[in-house]
Amino acid sequence: MPASGGEILPGEWESHRLMFGSVHDPASGERVDEVLAVLMRGPHSYTREDVVEIDCHGGTVPVQRVLKLCLAQGARLAQPGEFTLRAFLNGRLDLAQAEAVLDVVQARTDEGLRLAVEQLGGGVSSRVKGIRARLLHALAHLEATIDFPEDDVPPADVSPELSEALQDLDALIMSASTGIILRQGIRTAIVGRPNVGKSSLLNALLRTERAIVTDIAGTTRDTLEEVANVRGVPLVLTDTAGLRHEGRTEDPIERIGMDRTRRAISEADLVLIVLDGSEALTRDDRDVLHEITEQKPAMSLAVINKSDLPQELDLQNLGRIPGKLEVVHASATQSGGTDELEAKLAELVLSGRAAPRPGDAVITSVRHRDALERAREHTISALAASGAGTPAAFVAVDLHSALNALGEITGETVGEDLLDEIFRNFCIGK
Ligand code: GDP
Repeated sequence: MPASGGEILPGEWESHRLMFGSVHDPASGERVDEVLAVLMRGPHSYTREDVVEIDCHGGTVPVQRVLKLCLAQGARLAQPGEFTLRAFLNGRLDLAQAEAVLDVVQARTDEGLRLAVEQLGGGVSSRVKGIRARLLHALAHLEATIDFPEDDVPPADVSPELSEALQDLDALIMSASTGIILRQGIRTAIVGRPNVGKSSLLNALLRTERAIVTDIAGTTRDTLEEVANVRGVPLVLTDTAGLRHEGRTEDPIERIGMDRTRRAISEADLVLIVLDGSEALTRDDRDVLHEITEQKPAMSLAVINKSDLPQELDLQNLGRIPGKLEVVHASATQSGGTDELEAKLAELVLSGRAAPRPGDAVITSVRHRDALERAREHTISALAASGAGTPAAFVAVDLHSALNALGEITGETVGEDLLDEIFRNFCIGK
């Protein structure tokens, strides 16, 4: 294997030392590629098993040839996420950490990446384990009363311990509302009649230095998504190509495609209704506004664009639209013209909550939040039961359920189905 000559026998290969050499086809003796290779002996490897990594030159042909040779020698291709699954099964990572690997790979913003790395480092797991430890302690007290009733062990008062666990659970669940947004992004639709400046605004939002343009397949259908990073909040602008096309229409009096607008609104978490401040409200504008009052998206914001031009739009008219619609002014074509919009967006999406600080444990996954909510319900029941003098055995049942729910996050109590589900989303090679 080494280029300097001679083969290295497996037993002589020093762990964690990068070697330079070449790969030969054992059948023909042909030298296929020059490579770098490293052996990582378990347990000091990603999966805790012995791992060899071969670095070929880029390009598909050398990689394919080397891969084929490895397969011919008895290796097989990994399943999606198999390395990380093995790392989990071998105890190198817990489940929350393993899931974070996927989040790191798919991070859409710096903030999303930071939270994923925090979770990978065990931030979330250690908080969850802390809560589990409290509940286990309470359970041990209760079980002593159950197991040895004749020993006259006084009924344990586990309420203070359960209250503390509940507080921790509440704090983690609270963190999820921001965390899930920061990880997944907000599905955002920019709607409005032609020429109000939708494409220009979109471009202005995407132009920010940290904007990432990705081609992540949408969750429900295959669409291109563009992610605008607005003050750390990822706005996922789905199917914007369609919306852009609408903006380029040659015919200025063409009626807006109401069907498309309707669909965009129904699929969005956040709708930006763009109006042209330099013109009076038109019939088409009213149609869009009407659609918003009909569909009531989770969040909406009216953007009065072209604030650099003399203003003709009568805001009083907007006031007559039923429901509360927040309004910001913007100029898509002026530098700094979207500052007010960006500040408002961050405020609206984070609902006044501060973005998490480094070191905060933040829940970013719906699966984790659901498990925490189940743990919370059972802890509340246990607390109520123990306060009401219910026999310890009944309180213990609730505590077991709470512990099981928490164990689903870190992977202590998790079935094969769930593991399959989680690791199926990974890419091959991770
Ligand atoms: P869309 O049809 O809603 O996507 O609108 P466009 O983004 O294509 O913009 C229509 C026209 O308005 C273009 O000529 C833009 O340059 C212009 N425009 C967009 N935003 C502004 C703005 O804030 N100020 C000024 N003065 N012009 C703008």
